[in-house]
Amino acid sequence: MPAPVSSRAPLAVPLAEPDASEPGDVGETLHGWVAELLPFRRGITGDGLRETLRWIGGRVPLRLTEVASGTPVLDWTVPPEWRVTDAYLAVGGRRVVDWAESPLHLVQYSGPVRETMPLRALRAHLHTLPDQPGLIPYRTAYYAPAWGFCLSHDALDALAAEVGEEGRVEVVIDAEPFEGSLSYGEVVIPGGTADEILVSAHACHPALANDNASSLAVATALARRLMDGPTLRHTVRVLFAPGTIGAIAWLDRQRAGLARIRHGLVLANLGDRGGFTYKRTRRGTLGAAPLAVDRAVEIVMRDRGHGLDVRPFEPTGYDERQFGSPGFDLPVGRLTRTPHGEYPEYHTSGDDLDLVCPDALAESLGAVEAVVQTLDGDAVYRNTQPYGEPQLGRRGLYAALGGAAHGPEAQQAVLWALNLSDGSHSLLDVAERSGLPFGAVRQAADRLIEAGLLAVPRAATPTASGRRSRPLHP
Ligand code: ZN
Repeated sequence: MPAPVSSRAPLAVPLAEPDASEPGDVGETLHGWVAELLPFRRGITGDGLRETLRWIGGRVPLRLTEVASGTPVLDWTVPPEWRVTDAYLAVGGRRVVDWAESPLHLVQYSGPVRETMPLRALRAHLHTLPDQPGLIPYRTAYYAPAWGFCLSHDALDALAAEVGEEGRVEVVIDAEPFEGSLSYGEVVIPGGTADEILVSAHACHPALANDNASSLAVATALARRLMDGPTLRHTVRVLFAPGTIGAIAWLDRQRAGLARIRHGLVLANLGDRGGFTYKRTRRGTLGAAPLAVDRAVEIVMRDRGHGLDVRPFEPTGYDERQFGSPGFDLPVGRLTRTPHGEYPEYHTSGDDLDLVCPDALAESLGAVEAVVQTLDGDAVYRNTQPYGEPQLGRRGLYAALGGAAHGPEAQQAVLWALNLSDGSHSLLDVAERSGLPFGAVRQAADRLIEAGLLAVPRAATPTASGRRSRPLHP
């Protein structure tokens, strides 16, 4: 059951979509941001990650944290930083694969290597996609000593045709691990209470647009919209961290604050043209009922007319694995469009600017914002006149002309909110059972609060009241 909250001032007219606070066309802006984010040579540590965080910090107030290499974090240790100055394969002095052209060409955390070897021996260190011969795969070797190059299968065939299996290939990887630090960034948008909504996007993949420059752009835009909008009841924390180790380092350092997290969403792959997929929270999967964030995502997609593929929690995927580890078991679900591994360009050079689409990015931002607004607007109330229906007409809450089968949506929402507000059902319950948009339900509740017909249940501890809430997207 969601925590009861204080009464709120009535909502204004619902906001038109797209949000007027976003200059220009939202989708084009987001696509432009993905294009700006794409070239940074991100990794789980290093300057490409810092440049990414600086870019985000240029748009929203980002709090940067550096965790020194060697620092124990939960069951892990922060790895050394990895710096590359040059990496290539060359034949007769001519570069045939060059890291300078794409960071995907080098297996992350490779090296150092400087030797010449026959192609036959080099093959063990070459990664291609025979089924997608034009694409370069993305590979990492973070936690085991290894080195390798990634190239298109066509390029490998061309190399073999040129030099043969015994042909000598020069291998240069000028890269070194060194004692540095791991970086992550957070934007905290203070709300009326310390209760938090966590939004997280992994920030470690280089040169891949959908996974996950798309979500870095969407999460940055979300933070800016929330900052520019009226204060929410919840504090919203947007986390940009390298996958796995970044989330683990953040969790390790955040322990005392984790109890404040009421709801959360991991964002990934939000720019492709596929429909939305939602992975439920661990507790919402294993427990008796889905959690509020699980329900809010479903209601938002229903209200906005988007299809939604809902899946149970499983311990694979992105950082929901860490947030949903049994010791933490945080109420964090995951929203994607097409999930990882389910689109052919996943973790290849085909995950480029053409794969992500302005309309999909704008739709994703709108949906994520609506989920936050829904979670923030959900509450449990008590009908102050529960014996019979209160007379709505004299309070200006009933349409002058009776007789219509169900009456307009606003009218229905008033009746539903009154009937289910028994101190134990929330507005999400009302939206689910009535089939009415959550925004209409929230507006009805605000009108009823103003009329004195809904109140906070007696057991509830009122929080900051009288603050204007941001209009919801109905
Ligand atoms: Zn990935």
